[in-house]
Amino acid sequence: MYDVAIIGGGSAGYAAARTAGAAGLRAVVIEGGKEIGGLCILRGCMPSKALLFAAEVLHLARAGKTWGLRIPKAGFDFTAMMARKKALIDDFARHRRKELAGGNFKFIRARAQFVDDHTLALSDAGLAGSGRSAAVPKTISARHFIICTGSTSAPSPVPRLAEIGYLTSDEALSLSWLPKSLIVLGGGPVAVELAQFFCRLDVKVTLLQRGEYLLREFDCDAAVVLAKVLRREGVRLCSNTKLIEAFRQGREKGISFRHNDRANKVTAQEILFALGRIPVTAGLGLEKIGLGTEEGRIVTNAQMQTALAHIYAAGDCTGPDQIVHIGIEQGEIAAHNIANAVHKRAMDYRLLASVAFTDPQVASVGLTEKVAHARGVPFLAASYQLSDHGKAQIMAANDGFVKLLADPRTGEILGAACVAPMGGEFVHEIIAAMHKHMTVHELAAMPHYHPTMAEIWNYPAAELAGRIKEA
Ligand SMILES: Cc1cc2nc3c(=O)[nH]c(=O)nc-3n(C[C@H](O)[C@H](O)[C@H](O)COP(=O)(O)OP(=O)(O)OC[C@H]3O[C@@H](n4cnc5c(N)ncnc54)[C@H](O)[C@@H]3O)c2cc1C
Repeated sequence: MYDVAIIGGGSAGYAAARTAGAAGLRAVVIEGGKEIGGLCILRGCMPSKALLFAAEVLHLARAGKTWGLRIPKAGFDFTAMMARKKALIDDFARHRRKELAGGNFKFIRARAQFVDDHTLALSDAGLAGSGRSAAVPKTISARHFIICTGSTSAPSPVPRLAEIGYLTSDEALSLSWLPKSLIVLGGGPVAVELAQFFCRLDVKVTLLQRGEYLLREFDCDAAVVLAKVLRREGVRLCSNTKLIEAFRQGREKGISFRHNDRANKVTAQEILFALGRIPVTAGLGLEKIGLGTEEGRIVTNAQMQTALAHIYAAGDCTGPDQIVHIGIEQGEIAAHNIANAVHKRAMDYRLLASVAFTDPQVASVGLTEKVAHARGVPFLAASYQLSDHGKAQIMAANDGFVKLLADPRTGEILGAACVAPMGGEFVHEIIAAMHKHMTVHELAAMPHYHPTMAEIWNYPAAELAGRIKEA
């Protein structure tokens, strides 16, 4: 009998296993995917960011004239770009395989399913030739479980799309050919990142989204800047659309939709479906142990415990967000709480951050204005435009801004957002500040090197500090 059995060896599962092993628990990880590595390494964060960076370098080279450079023709070799991405991913995955195989826990290649609330049935069918463990037991028992089974692309709700065929991000990140034109369905981070990537590789991109603004988890001031940039680069953006159905027209695929209450349609060589992902819970046998889901999610409390006290969940299968460092923290907390009956830890989403790795990047931490309004949280906000900032002007990075939200009484920083080159990097200054409950007065008084992008935080901090009397 194991102390803890972890189902899924992705980012959350590996973090849980490492933590459980270090705490002296007898732990086992069961991984049933065809490849080992998890979404982040194989088909998520890492391959997408490797490709986005290549397209960003191309874009800068093509804009070389701005800085007085003569780069006669900056082009690209799609096969070479994909090969570099693949080499990086293979290396990351090799490293993860080593960590899983050589960890302070047992690693089994099999698919797991609950047969009762302390027993998993294991099956290694279909895993031949994919690093299968030598001898897979038929069942294993454990005192505790951590479900870390991740997420998968949501099924398409668009009539006839499944029959016509489409790409998900999985396929889009490993294409061997570049379509001439592409319809992107969705307005979230994966949709906008890939829309800009393909557009920068000269693909004619049309993005259809339901809402009025892109990136609904951010405030609309950020979405407005990103929409302007994408349109300027050549993406055709249609918001407020209602998708009607997919169709074929000759060799092309098409989507008919209503836009501002008018019938419309668009055709392209390919369609990228980026309308979201759903938790992987099917086939886990949750019904056999009476563990329900809500909208597909395995619901947990802040200690990552499900309705069955000895079963925990972490990562995309529980959410509420699908962000890798959150999944890792959830996995660590679940394992910690199993090992420590007294000093339990709980997730704190106060520092929840989001980043869309477009160029400029869109990043936020803590409260957005939208959420603050919805929750009735009093706040003061101040923004500063990149176009007024010296370092941004040097970089010709005029699209974007930084924004701080502060408690109107104490000045404590409640949230921040930025649309800026490397915005995902420099929002971390505010994550650190908020981690330590800093006020805008303290941030404004902090030294910042000149000329840097980071010093721009001084402006909204100083403005808010001037408006809020120090407590
Ligand atoms: C295109 C794209 C880009 C992304 N970019 C970012 C980004 O930039 N930053 C960010 O924070 N997040 C990003 N994400 C999200 C991030 O990748 C996920 O949040 C994270 O990888 C989820 O980790 P996980 O451990 O929950 O799931 P996974 O890594 O998917 O691991 C789940 C594992 O469980 C296994 N499994 C499932 N069922 C069973 C079973 N019954 N038995 C045994 N094993 C099973 C699977 O084989 C899999 O290996 C991106 C996602 C996508 C799709």
